[in-house]
Amino acid sequence: MPKTKKITCTKCFGKGHIRAFSHVQGGVCFSCAGAGYRMVSVSHKPSILFAIEVTCVSSDGCSLEPGQRGVAYNIKARTAAEALRKAKGKWLGARCYPNLWFDPASAEAVPST
Ligand SMILES: [Zn+2]
Repeated sequence: MPKTKKITCTKCFGKGHIRAFSHVQGGVCFSCAGAGYRMVSVSHKPSILFAIEVTCVSSDGCSLEPGQRGVAYNIKARTAAEALRKAKGKWLGARCYPNLWFDPASAEAVPST
């Protein structure tokens, strides 16, 4: 079940009414239905470990054969997209992780279990 949190309505600033709309339904804020706050879901997704899999592009000193998939990094992140983003920040300027030449475009974040 997703957690929710109370946030002050940004349309009426917690008043539940908007004076400028007093001609519409008595000015009840349409964003929070007069409550002055809204419940929003907060995702406290824990970080998990993702294996960043890449395709080897050169056997030159590489531990893999071209075309083989290997794990370049293990990165903690909340989502696969975040893991990829972090990984790409890491391998800028360093295309070779210990004995692994890879094509950054082939990278895929796979949750490690
Ligand atoms: Zn409101």
